[in-house]
Amino acid sequence: DKNILESQIDVLIIGAGPSGLMAAYWMARCGVNARIVDKRGTKVFTGQADGLRCRTLEIFDSMGFQHRVLQEGHVAVEANFWVPDGRGNLIRQGPHCSRKVNESPFRNMLLNQGRIEQFLLDSIREHSDLEVERGVIAEAFEYDSAKASDPDAHPIAVTLRTLSDEEANPSSLHAEGGPQKVASGVARGSLLQDDWEELVSKSRAKETRTEIVRCKYVVGCDGAHSWTRKQVNIPLEGSSTDHLWGVIDVVPISNFPDMRRLGTVTHPTGTILVIPRERNMVRLYVPVQAVEANVPGESRHDRSKITLEMIKQRVQVILAPFTFDFKICDWWAAYQIGQRIAPTFSKDNRVFLAGDAVHTHSPKVGLGMNMSMQDGFNIGWKVALVAKGVAQSLILNTYDPERHRLAEMLLDFDRHWSGLFTESEDEEKAQSMIKVVKFFEDFADGRKSFYGASSLIWKKHDDSGPTASASGGCNLIPGERLPPVKLRMQADGNVKWTTAILKSDGRFRVVALTGDMRASTQRSRVEALAKRLSSGHGSEKSLFDRYTSLTGTHDCALDVLAIHSGPWTKVEFFDFPDVFHPFDTVHGWKYDKIWCDDACPWDRDCDGTGYERWGVDRKRGAIAVIRPDQYVGWVGELEDVEEMVDYLDGILVRQATTA
Ligand code: FAD
Repeated sequence: DKNILESQIDVLIIGAGPSGLMAAYWMARCGVNARIVDKRGTKVFTGQADGLRCRTLEIFDSMGFQHRVLQEGHVAVEANFWVPDGRGNLIRQGPHCSRKVNESPFRNMLLNQGRIEQFLLDSIREHSDLEVERGVIAEAFEYDSAKASDPDAHPIAVTLRTLSDEEANPSSLHAEGGPQKVASGVARGSLLQDDWEELVSKSRAKETRTEIVRCKYVVGCDGAHSWTRKQVNIPLEGSSTDHLWGVIDVVPISNFPDMRRLGTVTHPTGTILVIPRERNMVRLYVPVQAVEANVPGESRHDRSKITLEMIKQRVQVILAPFTFDFKICDWWAAYQIGQRIAPTFSKDNRVFLAGDAVHTHSPKVGLGMNMSMQDGFNIGWKVALVAKGVAQSLILNTYDPERHRLAEMLLDFDRHWSGLFTESEDEEKAQSMIKVVKFFEDFADGRKSFYGASSLIWKKHDDSGPTASASGGCNLIPGERLPPVKLRMQADGNVKWTTAILKSDGRFRVVALTGDMRASTQRSRVEALAKRLSSGHGSEKSLFDRYTSLTGTHDCALDVLAIHSGPWTKVEFFDFPDVFHPFDTVHGWKYDKIWCDDACPWDRDCDGTGYERWGVDRKRGAIAVIRPDQYVGWVGELEDVEEMVDYLDGILVRQATTA
């Protein structure tokens, strides 16, 4: 058919929800020949997910827009559990605060999914011309598995069709004179200016057309009913019982004293979850099975039978003797979801699945969007670097084991947590909730990532690591995120968290913890290290010429940083070998490569205890390679350069050596 267009690209992302946008960020950042399509005419504006865990904020910091969440979102650190006192009243148990709340620079926060999508879209635009193609559906798929092992092949053909206005915007955004109101109640007055502009610009009618796109890789981020997953015959397995929930985003009129505090309220027929949000809004998760069970002969799980009024009445019953009503409802839904997981997240390392496409669970854990974004973040840089010819394709093997294990933990957490909301009254319920939260604390807040050994995670036989400080083991653990620490820049004394220093720009980072360079022996060790980094191996001029460059964005796939442990006044910028402060005659020295773990008198977070938190000897230091996503890949002594090069050789593509 002559009317069908044909094209060829490296990476196609199907779905522009949180996981797809996260993957697209990497395509934008690394300059990949990629496209991203979504069948919806617009992004999300109201409702859906709203919980942000601290690890997600750390990732946002490395992407450069975490401040926007801090500005608009609502901090939620303490939780209160309200239970009946047996005399018809509700009493507060709490507040309960995470023991580990200070292990991240950021706190758990609450903000509407639509705003997060906006920040991601803005960030993608900042780095490239990549735009989400809205109202474009993927609807046919062909895969030639015989070509899977050929790195230059485009074994997948996806047919994309531009939808008509009505198909792309089923809620009919198009009242006369432009979008006035969507079905769920989004009105001009309830949107921020940039959201409104996004809505207006994306809801213009487009020309319908069909196109066959041949791609090297496809990332399916197309949600719980994933079309991509079905094309590669990967099932979703798990519980067949779905939980049915009413979710409302309202501005409450209530005399419940903790209406603006995170918490739960328990009642014999179920527990509601109270989530304070931006703009005086509160989200309530309300179990509604009990309502339906009273309707004889009807399915317990008929979503269409749930009304806003029913949800309101349930809240009134559970919150009694406190009152509850509202005039403003931003969004509401009857949300039905079961705990399901796909047995694998990839097909031949050519088609990858991320987010809700491969794991679904109840919304109350506040993890769906976080896990989905972290999936997209994980696969995004790997596919981007492989597509750019910077990393070897074998690193793609690490996506499934790294994320599948976490998805299983997510479902496990959800089973424990959800059960506490739907079971009948239990005197110990509040206590059980505290226990479940504490048990899963590291996991739920993403402090640990539990990634196992692979080409990207170099595990030594001796788990304590060679760089352990006198006081205990080394906390720079391959497979876990670098524990965030606030440091001072040697050159200007400004302070920054490592989450911001280690930018998500697609580069691996060689981080030399150069120890206390006041001692001449230590300075000699650092000089020897610098020589080995810059003097090259074999025919290359230096370690940095050894690997293919990230063309268009960076001239090297590696970046090098030094972090020393002495007082900044006793060690000078120029005491460091050249490799730590590159120079060119136009731009001068790069000042942001040398950092200092020294206490700052005007910033309490920067207390000069980074080495201790990392479990690294302040005198001797250590060296680590941090992956583009801030996870520790390799760690060793300053002398272990050979082993470090072995690690990098197993990941990055070597430059063709000139004879
Ligand atoms: P999604 O955000 O679902 O994005 C998938 C995208 O793929 C969609 O934009 C879709 O249009 C697109 N797509 C699908 N098929 C195709 C195709 N063939 N071609 C092109 N594009 C396609 N989470 C909570 O924590 N709390 C909640 O209350 C909550 N409520 C929700 C209510 C609804 C109605 C929905 C849909 C989700 C809700 N979630 C909630 C879940 C939360 O939104 C997800 O966990 C999160 O969005 C996952 O992100 P994702 O990118 O993996 O998938």
